[in-house]
Amino acid sequence: MKQETKRLYLENPYQVEFEARVADKMIWEKKPALILDQTCFYPESGGQPSDKGSINEVEVLKVLEDEARIIHLVAEDMPAGKVAGKIDWKTRFDHMQQHSGQHILSQSFHELLAAETLAFHLGESFSTLEMDLRKISEDEIEQIERRANEIVYEDREIKCYFVPEEKIESVPLRRPPKKKGLIRVVEVSDFDFSACGGTHVRRTGEIGLIKILRLERIRNNIRFEFICGARALEDYLRKSRIVRELSTRFTVSEEEVLNTVEKLSSDLKSQRRAGKKLQEKIAQYEAQEITQDAKEKIIKEVFVDKTLEEARYLALNIIKKGDFVVLFGQEGEERGHLILACSENLDIDMRELVPLVSPLIKGKGGGRPSLVEVAGEEKENLNQALNKAFEFVKKKIGPNL
Ligand SMILES: [Zn+2]
Repeated sequence: MKQETKRLYLENPYQVEFEARVADKMIWEKKPALILDQTCFYPESGGQPSDKGSINEVEVLKVLEDEARIIHLVAEDMPAGKVAGKIDWKTRFDHMQQHSGQHILSQSFHELLAAETLAFHLGESFSTLEMDLRKISEDEIEQIERRANEIVYEDREIKCYFVPEEKIESVPLRRPPKKKGLIRVVEVSDFDFSACGGTHVRRTGEIGLIKILRLERIRNNIRFEFICGARALEDYLRKSRIVRELSTRFTVSEEEVLNTVEKLSSDLKSQRRAGKKLQEKIAQYEAQEITQDAKEKIIKEVFVDKTLEEARYLALNIIKKGDFVVLFGQEGEERGHLILACSENLDIDMRELVPLVSPLIKGKGGGRPSLVEVAGEEKENLNQALNKAFEFVKKKIGPNL
């Protein structure tokens, strides 16, 4: 018969240190593993991660449940016999806050929207609740948060007790129990009754703030991200710092930050539009100037002070004038670009140039018959690539230009 582990955390989740006897040793998930006659370590289950801590000062890596046994995966093997264990209280209390907060949040959803809890997951930085809901308004979310936090302020007792399966009907459980036999009931006094084997605080006041962060739609349900207690305080500190800094930077009150950002972003958009128009105008003038002075119909140049977009505009404006071939290089910060274009009246397909010039700059590219672009790593070879393109174009249509 397999050794059953006595779960000390069920009786007293505030117990941090314990003594135990090693009942069995094994290798589990390629790590040395211990089964003790009793333990304070909560094993990964019911959406709650396992506790952290040590046994005989050796780090406990993971704690798992195998039916009635609890398996402790440890960093190194140790002799059998008596051991002393210690759980990390900070992690345990954090889990107690998140998990107890979840019961209250679930019941608040149930009370206000008759919504069932489908799944709960306690994560490293936030927890999630998947609810049987199709839609929810901003106001309803706030109502749920207000109700949940009201239960916190009332500092209600949270009791845990066992009820035999045949008598469980008398307990107004929020969800029917998944387990058989003796069922552990966690009661938030006169508010919520859940069948649960997790670790909870003694009174709701210990949970601290319960806050929903955001929601997403999943499997036709809604999943909420939430935080409680110390996590909620950290989140508030971080967010108030951001708002304070924004308000200082824009020299407006915190309430005005959002309006100010909206105005700035719309100003930026219209400035961008104006900038683009200006850029087009400049490209037109520049194209005019270049084509007027051009001694040759093939225009070849490498730019370092133009952006790729500016060079492209210029090329397009030049070929619009008819009878021109443009061979441009543009040196970006990390890569070099080639813009090879020709007026549509010319009988030349610029795509033929791509395999010729690409290897010279270790590049890749493509485009349409009148315009191709190649981007490559070796920007120092742009000139060489343009010379190659020049020769090709000259040979192909030189006499007609
Ligand atoms: Zn629970």
